Formats: sequence, structure tokens, C-alpha cells
Amino acid sequence: MSLKAELLARIAATGPMTLGDYMAECLLHPRYGYYTTRDPLGAAGDFTTAPEISQMFGELIGLALAQSWLDQGAPAPFTLAELGPGRGTLMADILRTTARVPGFHDAARLTLIEASPTLRGEQARRLPTATWVDTVAHLSAEQPLFLVANEFFDALPIRQFHRAQGEEWREVVIGAEGGTLKPGLAPPALQPALMHRLLSTSEGDIVEHSAPALPLVAEIAGIIARNGGAALLIDYGAGPSLGDTFQALENHHFADPFAAPGEADLTAHVDFTELARAARAQVTVSDPTLQGVFLERLGITERAQALAACLTGPALASHIAAHRRLTHPEEMGSLFKVLGLWPQSAEPLPGLAPESQPEPK
Ligand code: SAH
Repeated sequence: MSLKAELLARIAATGPMTLGDYMAECLLHPRYGYYTTRDPLGAAGDFTTAPEISQMFGELIGLALAQSWLDQGAPAPFTLAELGPGRGTLMADILRTTARVPGFHDAARLTLIEASPTLRGEQARRLPTATWVDTVAHLSAEQPLFLVANEFFDALPIRQFHRAQGEEWREVVIGAEGGTLKPGLAPPALQPALMHRLLSTSEGDIVEHSAPALPLVAEIAGIIARNGGAALLIDYGAGPSLGDTFQALENHHFADPFAAPGEADLTAHVDFTELARAARAQVTVSDPTLQGVFLERLGITERAQALAACLTGPALASHIAAHRRLTHPEEMGSLFKVLGLWPQSAEPLPGLAPESQPEPK
């Protein structure tokens, strides 16, 4: 059986499924899921991420987290955590750089949250001191938490709603037609989770909502508020959500998300407005800051120049291209944002400032 056959049978038995359920099955089905069955990263895979482009990304993130740890009095022990670490490259770069920060490694309890057994294997090879937990709720409740997540939230399932007449919405649901999966719209209904979007949308607008993201961020914020720590959440997106950003990527090209479930990476832009909303009652949140601006503030250009001094020929050319790719507004520099969280009593994370116009709590 294939995932497509399984989903068609399920729809035949119980009716159309939400986009969120569809995404969850495609990405994490235990037997056929996209992440469950492969390592999707890099040139041979479907997409490339910032840590895979250059070591500079992880180096600067590592130093930012270590500085925040020092600013908070170098607490020991503390949890050093990553959500969705992929191949473990980002954390390996963080560890290499922070080895020079006295006491940091001795105090760090490296904890990873990863759903894919394949990628857990990759991570174990690169990060021999790591342990894994299944959810944020299983992170230590006593220790300060310094956490990073790069391109994790875009992989969490979203539901999609089209604003109908009045205060009602029509949800995108996946049905079947002649043996193929086909998106359609459910009848209009009220959506309690979208009440706060009624004033900022009008009939015909599309809004996406990631139900799993919000409790996750609230849980992280709660640990940081109680025990100290900081979080850097990095992803593509903006907010508030408006329009269809659901996409499938296969072999570095856009694909039909419904043609071959489990074979393509499915993502949506991250709604940073909602992530901040989930956190700000408990911790200080930054503005969603452009990745290019954040990395420049942390000194990526100086670091790039220092590394360039040791390079020539094609290696130098690819290093220069990597710097540009991470920071230039037409590449990843503006599409990607960084949201920082830290305790209300603590110094801001390096490269970030408290949000300029906090919304009501
Ligand atoms: N952060 C890495 C990889 C990004 S790809 C990088 O920047 O290169 C997304 C990662 O999140 C993968 O490791 C994937 O397996 C993991 N992931 C996706 N959904 C998840 C979930 N619900 N729980 C835990 N991990 C998840």
C-alpha cells in the first residue's frame, strides 16, 4: 500500500480531511512519512537550510546563546535544546564555537527534539553527547533553557481557512475524485481560534493557522520565564497570516502537494505574529527581525572576511556566495525572520531588541 492509497481509503470511510491532518500524515506517517523515511537536506535532497549553507550561521547563533547565558550569570546546569535539528549541523557548529566559552560545555545538557528516526541517526553521529525527548513538555522543568529552532515551525501542520460571509470561514479540506486527492472547501462555519482575525480580514481572504505551534511556544516561554534562558526561532514567514503559503518542494522545485503524498516536503510560511502572541504574556519577545539584519548585527561580515583570508579559487567563490545567500534581501536575508524570547528581567539576546509596539496581552 502507498500513503496515497491509505489516505484515499480513509477519505472514503470517514470523509474529507483537514489540511492539517493531511500535512501531518504526509510528513510524519510512521511508515510512509516524508521525514520518517529520508534525509531531505542538501544538494541531493529536496531543500537546503542556512546551517547547511555555511558554518557561519551556527557559529553566530552559538555565540549569541552563550552571551545570553553569560548575561544571565552562567547558570549550571542548563538545557541546551534544538527543535528539529535535521542533520545536526547547526548544533555541531554551535558546540564547536562555544567550546571557547569557559564553563558552557560543562553546564550544558544537550537535548534534541526530533520526530524522524532517520534524522535522529544522523544527529547521533554528529552529536555524541545528545539525548532526545519527544516533546517540549518533556524538557527539564527545573533547568534554564537555551533553545534554537531553524526551519522547524514551517514543518508543523497548518489548517487553512477562506473568509466567507459575515463571521464565518470555509476550511480547506482534502477529498477524493476519481482516485486522486483533491482540495475543496467545507461549508461555512464559525472558527473560535480566528475570532481575533475578523477585523483584519474580509470576505475571500485566506488565513492559515498552526494549532500545534502555539502551545509549543507557550511551553518554551513558560520554562524560560520560570528558570531563565532564551530562545531563537528562525524561519521563513512574517505575519499576521494572509494568503495561501502552503507549498510542496521536491528536488529543489515546487511540486503539486497532492500528487504524491509523503514524497515532497510540505511547508507553510510561519506566522510570527501568532508565535509572539503565544509567548508575550510570559517573556519579552523581539520583533520578528530580518535574518540578514540579525546576522549583520552579530558580525557575519567580519567573520566572513576572516574565513575568506584562508580561501582561494572555487572555495572562496562559494564562501562569498554563501554569505550573500544568508544575508541578501533577495535571497534568505528578508524572507527569513528571527524571533527571540528571553526573561522579562534579562538582557536582550545579542542582535535583537524588545518588540517596538507590543500588542495587548
Ligand atoms: N533545523 C534543521 C532541519 C530543518 S528540516 C536545519 O536547519 O537544517 C525540519 C526538521 O524538523 C527535521 O529535522 C524534521 O525531521 C523535524 N521535524 C518536523 N516536524 C517535527 C515534529 N512535529 N516534531 C519533531 N521534529 C519535527
